[in-house]
Amino acid sequence: AVYDMLATIKAKLDAGRALLYQTSRYVDIYKALDDIARERKLTPEERQEQKRYAKLADSFTPLAKGMNSEYANQNAYDCIQVHGGSGFMMEYACQRIYRDARITSIYEGTTQLQTVAAIRYVTNGSYAATLHEYEMIPCAPEFEGYMNRIKDMTRKLEACTNAVKEAQNQELLDLVSRRLYEMAAVCVMSHLLLQDATKAPDMFGKSLNVYVNYAESEVEKHFNFIRKFQAEELESYRK
Ligand SMILES: Cc1cc2nc3c(=O)[nH]c(=O)nc-3n(C[C@H](O)[C@H](O)[C@H](O)COP(=O)(O)OP(=O)(O)OC[C@H]3O[C@@H](n4cnc5c(N)ncnc54)[C@H](O)[C@@H]3O)c2cc1C
Repeated sequence: AVYDMLATIKAKLDAGRALLYQTSRYVDIYKALDDIARERKLTPEERQEQKRYAKLADSFTPLAKGMNSEYANQNAYDCIQVHGGSGFMMEYACQRIYRDARITSIYEGTTQLQTVAAIRYVTNGSYAATLHEYEMIPCAPEFEGYMNRIKDMTRKLEACTNAVKEAQNQELLDLVSRRLYEMAAVCVMSHLLLQDATKAPDMFGKSLNVYVNYAESEVEKHFNFIRKFQAEELESYRK
């Protein structure tokens, strides 16, 4: 049980970091093109690139902020648990890490507001389009199985998104938006870890395995909830 917790902490850390770096890359590219545009007129191809990366940066920023601050909280909680009663005491660093982590999902935009910012990229298919582009990036032959599992996860995200859109019920979309957001985020992070593991299997191979196992169970949980949920049940969620 303890090594499951430790492996999952490491996998979430590697996945979250991969998402942060990818988001930073998207921001850097469009900002560099913004800088060039101040010096000279951009070519039509550069303008297209600037637009593409600005959109990717806009869609990835709420994923990176929301998921990393939630993972910081989950990892700090598990960190105390790994240390048992000692972890709760002032003498150990993890109680302070836990208190420090707690604010990150509140300030600079709560996770709920990151979801509000991200949900349009779920419903307009932006994340799905990026995920399909990632599917075209070759991975190491020994990791093909993970690629297929991530593709299945993406199909489930798309099935849920379509079901919610077809219902044409804003209240239903609001209720399940966090679930759709997390489904998109874990699919993205699984792909990024797959890309990292292809480049550096010794560093990321194990985290890829642990994270895809975790991500798949998250997707399955949300898929079941959304598939079974009836609009009449919204009444039970109102005060
Ligand atoms: C230690 C600390 C330092 C801070 N530093 C700064 C600072 O330097 N500068 C600064 O400007 N602010 C700062 N803040 C304020 C911080 O940014 C806000 O606390 C934060 O944005 C949340 O806003 P709120 O507290 O008004 O909560 P509320 O907006 O009242 O939110 C309460 C709950 O409702 C949810 N919620 C609210 N709106 C929606 C919505 N539309 N859809 C779904 N859910 C929603 C939230 O997610 C949250 O769960 C700081 C706060 C703290 C605690």
